[in-house]
Amino acid sequence: MERLPRVVVVGAGFAGLAAARALAGRPIDVAIVDQHNFHTFEPLLYEVATAGLEPTDVAYPVRTIFGREPNIAFRYGKVGGIDLDARSVSLEDGTRLDYDYLVVATGATAGFFGIEGAARHTRPLYTLADARRLRNQLLGVLEEADAHPERFDGGPSFVVVGGGPTGVEMAGALVELLSVSVRSDRLRIDPARTRIVLLDVADHLLTAFRSAAGGYAAATLRQRGVDIRLGQRVTEVTANGVHLADGSVIRADVVVWAAGITVEGTLAASLPAPTTGGGRVEVGADLSLASHREVFVVGDAAAAPLGHGKEGVTPQLAQGAIQSGRHAGQQILRRVAGQPATPFSYRDKGIMATIGRRAAVAQLPRVPVIGGTLGWLAWLGLHLVYLIGFRNRLLVLLNWSWRYFNWPSGPRLIVEDVPAVTPR
Ligand SMILES: Cc1cc2nc3c(=O)[nH]c(=O)nc-3n(C[C@H](O)[C@H](O)[C@H](O)COP(=O)(O)OP(=O)(O)OC[C@H]3O[C@@H](n4cnc5c(N)ncnc54)[C@H](O)[C@@H]3O)c2cc1C
Repeated sequence: MERLPRVVVVGAGFAGLAAARALAGRPIDVAIVDQHNFHTFEPLLYEVATAGLEPTDVAYPVRTIFGREPNIAFRYGKVGGIDLDARSVSLEDGTRLDYDYLVVATGATAGFFGIEGAARHTRPLYTLADARRLRNQLLGVLEEADAHPERFDGGPSFVVVGGGPTGVEMAGALVELLSVSVRSDRLRIDPARTRIVLLDVADHLLTAFRSAAGGYAAATLRQRGVDIRLGQRVTEVTANGVHLADGSVIRADVVVWAAGITVEGTLAASLPAPTTGGGRVEVGADLSLASHREVFVVGDAAAAPLGHGKEGVTPQLAQGAIQSGRHAGQQILRRVAGQPATPFSYRDKGIMATIGRRAAVAQLPRVPVIGGTLGWLAWLGLHLVYLIGFRNRLLVLLNWSWRYFNWPSGPRLIVEDVPAVTPR
């Protein structure tokens, strides 16, 4: 009997899941490999970091997602290398997985852009572990400021570097964490003396949005007490604070790094293919490599052309990942069926960022930027729709309602990190 075509999908993010889903129920053997045994809903990581949501609210086991799909197997492990000639990937435990088609969906990582001390003294927000570490540090600093106010020169200082959606969301959520810590937890901290500073090198926030969004975000955050400093280039980060190009230093107890991402250093970057800015792998119109048509690169890792005759590449957003992953899966089905390839075409469904309680910006195609409560409701609804799993949607809705109505308590727990059995 002839064997079924084998597809290996590396990465269970938005792109990898979409690729595997497109192959579900088909006469194809699919192995999805990830270094975590869960899918992470990255857009809500800042909520975990600021103790608004639990880690389990934003993560979902990959085995559960594909539990009813007998042709999709999950393999927990980190892929260390790809042998394009032998058509196999090697896991760090020495296992080899052979493929007929490979989908590389390994995402990106935090980019520190060579800024001295940034990797060492800041907290990035890219994985669930990052979010847990950041939460521990934020809550730890707040407790320390309560116990030893003399060590804090008036009050704690939190600096967020990067005024894109992640930085804006972090700054807004920090305001809420601080307010609930003082109001409900009775931490002896003077909010007026606590600093939340949001820095960006650009002259406005949310540069990927239309300018109205950045203006609204800045006005709302300033009104909530965030010190926004624009046109500021970070040159160095030390244990004490953030150094700026103008020679000034901002004292910081926690520095959140939300300044950008890179594909350099990830598995996708090891492919022998040309890359664009940020190490994104150049792919053809059908999202496969020009040199190896059986290898597809999708999601944040790829510089996928927008298609439809439009110049530019697909944005590193959840929609870009979902659409490109799905397209790669569909192309594999076409190849297996002996049909010709079809070009990828990105459909812009808009972008959103929340600024905090009842304030968000939603930029939808052909519609003016929506702000305020309406924007926030749109943001809330969309995130619930795209969260994986009914249980997670319900838990997130409950947690958000809990906080919205100001009921006491929430997941403000400092839980020491327990060493995990990491895949080798
Ligand atoms: C904090 C934050 C907030 C965001 N907010 C938004 C938002 O509001 N809206 C929006 O549209 N987008 C948002 N994004 C961007 C969006 O999350 C990404 O564009 C999307 O997750 C990319 O999907 P992906 O599948 O390409 O990569 P990822 O989702 O990053 O998944 C990559 C997967 O590959 C796995 N992996 C990597 N290397 C290996 C390896 N060697 N072996 C095995 N497994 C590996 C990782 O563990 C991970 O599970 C946000 C991103 C972050 C970090």
